[in-house]
Amino acid sequence: EKIQQVCKDDNKVVFSFEFFPPKTEDGVDNLFERMERMVVHNPNFCDITWGAGGSTADLTLEISNRMQNMVCVETMMHLTCTNMPVEKIDDALDTIKSNGLQNVLALRGDPPHGQDKFVQVEGGFACALDLVKHIRAKYGDYFGITVAGYPEAHPDVVPANGTAPLEAYHSDLAYLKRKVDAGADLIITQLFYDTDNFLKFVNDCRQLGITCPIVPGIMPINNYKGFLRMTGFCKTKIPPEIMAALEPIKDNEEAVRNYGVHLGTEMCKKILANGIKTLHLYTLNMEKSALAILMNLGLIEESKISRPLPWRRPTNIYRI
Ligand code: FAD
Repeated sequence: EKIQQVCKDDNKVVFSFEFFPPKTEDGVDNLFERMERMVVHNPNFCDITWGAGGSTADLTLEISNRMQNMVCVETMMHLTCTNMPVEKIDDALDTIKSNGLQNVLALRGDPPHGQDKFVQVEGGFACALDLVKHIRAKYGDYFGITVAGYPEAHPDVVPANGTAPLEAYHSDLAYLKRKVDAGADLIITQLFYDTDNFLKFVNDCRQLGITCPIVPGIMPINNYKGFLRMTGFCKTKIPPEIMAALEPIKDNEEAVRNYGVHLGTEMCKKILANGIKTLHLYTLNMEKSALAILMNLGLIEESKISRPLPWRRPTNIYRI
């Protein structure tokens, strides 16, 4: 089943979990145990990332097959152009097609390790738009194609500690529209913490004539340093009230996670209240915060949670 179909159903909330390929065999075993515990809650789909520079190609293919056919959850595989000549891209697509997957997230990918700028590999593609065109040309309507969207514009055009110039933001949007016009039928956004800005982005997309579902990517804050690293890498805007709430609790891991669940819940509530009925959770291969948020929203049943969620209990450790 193509995931954009379920995302179009306005009458129910659709939620999904993203995972990445672990580095060790034990890590893979742990991930599958975790996934089993998480799919009990009926996510509408799950996805698995494609390691930077294509570093996890074989593992991503193997994991996506197991997810689709053994965990039995609708699976979307990420695929990037970095270091991928077209033959390798087609190998990957043929493999997932023969494994019964129908969903792919088509990305350009980040520059190869040690380089600042994205370089097109010989016989490969320069951007996600080219990949989308290729998939449609070669595989027709077989795949549901998702693309990445950037509510604060792609980091390439965002200055350090600043926001993207308006012109760059709008040309980014116009480019996103081209990806959709070329055949993408769903957008998942980069992580963000400024919910109002996300809602504005959706509005801007609609104004431009982008009609496909736009799914917000939500990354619960689990750990202060990890949060700073990730938002620094993605040049994500951090609203001052979030920094102010984190500053006094940054050395208390439990308090940070509590706050992360609280913040994630509030963000999702606002998104749902604005009529967007899809939530994509960047789990970072951890289950508790994602499940706690969904439980707070009443989207999953507590009785199906097999492990305690300690930081869900009321707490006064954080202030917002
Ligand atoms: P593109 O859509 O090709 O473009 C990126 C930006 O470049 C555009 O926004 C635009 O400003 C500019 N641009 C490119 N081509 C043109 C053009 N022809 N005309 C005008 N402007 C252009 N990375 C991984 O390595 N593995 C993953 O699994 C992965 N998953 C991701 C999932 C999501 C939901 C998101 C948001 C990102 C993910 N990334 C992943 C990161 C992603 O690979 C990087 O952000 C990368 O730098 C850009 O990929 P893209 O597909 O957005 O690129």
